[in-house]
Amino acid sequence: MASKHQGPSPIPDGKTTAQNPPKEQSWGRVLICGGTDWPKLGRKERGGGKNQDDNHPDLAEPHILRSLSNVKISSIHASSHGCHSIMLDASGTAWMFGRNERASLGVAGREYISENAPLKLLASTLSGASAKTRFVHAACGRNHSLLVGSEGQVWSTGANNLGQCGLPACPEVLTWQQVKSTFGGRRVVKAVAGITFSVVLTEHGRLFSFGSGEHGQLGNGRTGEHIITGNKTAYDVHNDPIAVKALDGKHITQIACGPQHSIALDSEGVVYVWGYNGYCRLGLGHQKDILFPTPVPHFTGPNASSMGRMVVAGPSNSVVIDKQGMYWMAGKWKNTGDGSSGSPYSQFRVIQDVMGCKMTHACCGGVTHWGLAPDEDDSVMTIAWGQNAANGELGLGPEEPRSATKPTRHQPLIGIEVYDIAAGQNTTFFLARPNDKLSDLPRHPLDLDTPQECIICSQDNGDDDSPLECDKCDSPYHLGCLIPPLDAVPDGEWFCPRCLLDPGAPIGPEDVPAPPQPKGPKPRKPTPVYRDDDEEDDYNVKDDDSDNEPSYRGQKRKGTGGASGAAKRKR
Ligand SMILES: [Zn+2]
Ligand SMILES: [Zn+2]
Repeated sequence: MASKHQGPSPIPDGKTTAQNPPKEQSWGRVLICGGTDWPKLGRKERGGGKNQDDNHPDLAEPHILRSLSNVKISSIHASSHGCHSIMLDASGTAWMFGRNERASLGVAGREYISENAPLKLLASTLSGASAKTRFVHAACGRNHSLLVGSEGQVWSTGANNLGQCGLPACPEVLTWQQVKSTFGGRRVVKAVAGITFSVVLTEHGRLFSFGSGEHGQLGNGRTGEHIITGNKTAYDVHNDPIAVKALDGKHITQIACGPQHSIALDSEGVVYVWGYNGYCRLGLGHQKDILFPTPVPHFTGPNASSMGRMVVAGPSNSVVIDKQGMYWMAGKWKNTGDGSSGSPYSQFRVIQDVMGCKMTHACCGGVTHWGLAPDEDDSVMTIAWGQNAANGELGLGPEEPRSATKPTRHQPLIGIEVYDIAAGQNTTFFLARPNDKLSDLPRHPLDLDTPQECIICSQDNGDDDSPLECDKCDSPYHLGCLIPPLDAVPDGEWFCPRCLLDPGAPIGPEDVPAPPQPKGPKPRKPTPVYRDDDEEDDYNVKDDDSDNEPSYRGQKRKGTGGASGAAKRKR
């Protein structure tokens, strides 16, 4: 998916309140809805979602992801064809979780990484990085992933049978490896990943592709089809990144890809499409695969307002937001009626139900479609639709239908300042600025085995001195027991001393898999790479290994405190 959010610029103070909304703030908190049973998502063995495991629930509405609830996340990355995701924080550290079937998250021998215990990766620990390197972008394909470093490096891991990792073809790359290419002497700034291919964008506005181009996804003018023994067909493997020469002279600013097709935008607003064209997903009026980036006539001007501002790719569709905020879609984007497999949109067409909205952002998941638009009161309106959303990935609420044929205003997100969306195959992530409304959302996991008495004094002083609950771990603290003591319930988010010590630490009583035992050479110890005035950036200098055992584990617990316990949350 495309992301228009650029690199981080942390603000000095983590405190945010509804009275003082940090509009310029470049980080937010992660919300999650939809499926969390990573190995089984989208697979028949699942059993229709009825006998789902309590530890891997389908989340029917957006929840604050507790594990990252006190990490300043600056960008979120997932894809319509993948069941894993990568979040980058404001100091350029990556946090990763989800399906890890072919080591798509860079660790061998683990079926999945729990969202409650995300893997943390510092760029400086990778070969090819300097002590100052931060991650600036990431891409999730079906079974492979890419990370982009601040000096333009690209690392990859996961399925590489067709060179989609940009490394000599092999079934899978088990840990992050650097893609050795000069990329035309320019820094790579963004990456996208399909099933068998990847595309990266350089600061100079050029694209490089690698992997297999059986449907023209590489944009190099050929599929690479050839006959091998037994009269079978195979396709060329391009593990060395190749420049997409058809776009020479154009300054590309955005790139997005579906499982087998790509869509790009240049600095003038011209939209280019190429790759697999089933269901007319390229919006060119036919279904023939396109081997070269080809401009979509509607978005070539000369009327600037009808040219593109954002491009998005879904599993069998493409989306363009034009410079007026109009939302255009091509291909198959639902199961029945106009726009389904029987009558796909053969050319880009405006979605009528959102014609009145000036869209600022869009995203497509496995079956979901998302848009952000300013509401009348200047707040953000999140718009969602999609058929056959069986895992709650639309997050419309526990009592609501899981699917929505028509675009609908997302009720649980009213008042939430969502500014980025990363829609996965069966799960959706949102990046939202902290405010009081956000603090009211449920948390995942829902219930923690939290002590009911103050962590410091173990006393219950009754209602006159009911304790403050940590926004991450729910642990209660008397205001007066804190060091220094608080004389009033703080505005905005509040995290307890233990959670502040180790942002991103695993949380929840279950489903925290044992820490990975790295095979081969142990990554060198991370060096402090980045400092600002931010009191929370201590985690940046910690060793990875310390993340897996939060200090409060093993402490005596009683009852299920939970958000509804006696403690007052400051609301
Ligand atoms: Zn106390
Ligand atoms: Zn806490």
